[in-house]
Amino acid sequence: MLCPNGCELLMEERKMEKLFHRNNEPVIISELTIYVCKECGQEVIPLKTARIIEDVLNEKINPSGKFTAELYEVSSL
Ligand SMILES: [Zn+2]
Repeated sequence: MLCPNGCELLMEERKMEKLFHRNNEPVIISELTIYVCKECGQEVIPLKTARIIEDVLNEKINPSGKFTAELYEVSSL
């Protein structure tokens, strides 16, 4: 896949973990396939991945477990 910003390098397919919000509640989806441009850092979400995200946000997929994490807000640092 080519970068939408016109970079010369081909985009790299990566498995990523992303945080989304559903009804103001955070949800984490891991192992998402996302394309990343090694040149400019642009991320592109392929249609298949977008569908998975949509299904999760529409509660069509059951969660595999709970994820808790400490939050660090670094804007004041
Ligand atoms: Zn790029």
